[in-house]
Amino acid sequence: MNMHTNEFASGGSNGWAKAGTQPRIAVVGAGMSGIAAVVKLREAGYTDLTVYEKSDKVGGTWRENQYPGLSCDVPSRWYSFTFNLNPDWSHRFSYGPEIQAYMEETAEKFGVTKVVKFNTPVTDLTYEGPQWKLTDGNGDVEHYDVVISATGVLHKPSFPAIEGLDSFEGDMFHTARWDHSVKLEGRKVGIIGTGSTAAQIIGAITHKVGTMNVFQRTPQWMIPLPQKEYASGWKWLMRKFPALQKASFNFYYKTMVKNFGAATTGDQEKLADVQKACTEHLEEAIADPVLRAKLTPSYQAACKRLIFCSEFYPAISRDNANLITDGITRITPKGIETEDGKLHELDVLILATGFDASAFILPTKVTGENGQDLGESWDGSPRAHRAVGMPGFPNFWMLEGPTGPVGNLSLITISERQVDYVISMLNKMRDEGLEAIAPKQTSFDAYNKSMAERAPQTVWASGGCDSWYFDKSGTPNLYPFPPQQYLEDMHNPDFSEFRLIADVKEGDAVSGAA
Ligand code: NAP
Repeated sequence: MNMHTNEFASGGSNGWAKAGTQPRIAVVGAGMSGIAAVVKLREAGYTDLTVYEKSDKVGGTWRENQYPGLSCDVPSRWYSFTFNLNPDWSHRFSYGPEIQAYMEETAEKFGVTKVVKFNTPVTDLTYEGPQWKLTDGNGDVEHYDVVISATGVLHKPSFPAIEGLDSFEGDMFHTARWDHSVKLEGRKVGIIGTGSTAAQIIGAITHKVGTMNVFQRTPQWMIPLPQKEYASGWKWLMRKFPALQKASFNFYYKTMVKNFGAATTGDQEKLADVQKACTEHLEEAIADPVLRAKLTPSYQAACKRLIFCSEFYPAISRDNANLITDGITRITPKGIETEDGKLHELDVLILATGFDASAFILPTKVTGENGQDLGESWDGSPRAHRAVGMPGFPNFWMLEGPTGPVGNLSLITISERQVDYVISMLNKMRDEGLEAIAPKQTSFDAYNKSMAERAPQTVWASGGCDSWYFDKSGTPNLYPFPPQQYLEDMHNPDFSEFRLIADVKEGDAVSGAA
């Protein structure tokens, strides 16, 4: 057996670590966390990798979202893979197509694309200790030693439960299913929602549509986006001196984590700075006191995921824009009826109504030890141990899983750290000849209890708003401590939190019971 190297024999088997063979690893999803998983696992010596991707391209959220104005409000120098920093970013906050191209280029350059099974959704995962049986949408079945879920957080569009939605006779689509064949120029357009997505769309299209009717249920705080285009000389410098790229990555990383991360997780002084920036933005951008009052939230800034956008306020101030704050009563074939009895006639209706944030890997059916069903275990309140593992689901790991630090941070960095954590688990299995690893129920309970106790100190819970961060339990499904703590913890796994299973058939827990 190769105890401390990754020079495995090829081919998977039950108990790969004992046999000294490569583990067969399935990655579900070829978005940014799936790409990071393949590159980093391979770098660590784990080479028997298969990625299942439901669509025909890599890129995940950047492939799926193609709406006008799509950009990333996390600085690109930080929203980058550490193993493929990009000197050529065109803007400080890059636009969607450029990020998608970066995802495709990275996947090609690092040989990820060639291990992806495209148009192959995973429908069923069943633990048959110590392996997983994976069934895909074509009905094909394979067995894997390890499964890594890299399905992303917000991939299941949420459609509003409004009476008459299906009766609308004009063009209608969700923002994540943008219909590029629909003409917008000169038409009566309506948009339901005022989240990050709607703000970018409204900023990008209002000038060209006939009328822009924005149906706002809850106003949002917005901070201006300090956008800037990078000059060619700056790109040359970055290319010539890669250390500069690294320094830039670290600068944005530390600035965002230490300031914004701290503001949301209990630092009142930093939170007051965020509030001040938002209030000033609103006051400076919106001169009309009536419109300003309609746009002023009654809750604390950053309670909902903060919107970084400079285009929304100028757009909503245009003569062809209407901010409608009366509640929606129903949708009719001709448009939207509001509580004041008015029918707002529309040609196009855009649903910027967000996503089901409790889905994660669901609707894939995942069955763990003793027939435990993942969806039933979560019951609308997904939890995980350190956002990556679940008791009862050995050798199953999640990237961007429940209760991770997701708001306004670079999810690429978080995914990369989570992959490092999974690699530590695989190395432990390899070094100790283990058949399986899963979090202990007691560790999972203690971890989630500490998070629930801490949650009230975050602005997401205390800021007086409702948001997609809350799950069925009424708790924000986010990491409630300062994010750098999570990122550091990912580098130092505490194996006493895990069942280290030497022989699955006998159900032995080598290092302590569940
Ligand atoms: P969202 O933040 O969940 O916003 C959904 C909007 O739809 C809200 O304004 C919500 O109102 C409204 N809404 C939902 N159901 C409604 C109903 N039945 N009637 C009326 N209004 C309704 O969704 P999103 O804007 O798509 O953004 C989701 C997340 O995607 C963001 O928070 C962010 O994490 C990510 N994102 C990131 C970027 C980026 O630049 N990095 C850009 C876009 C999106 P209420 O507020 O009243 O619920």
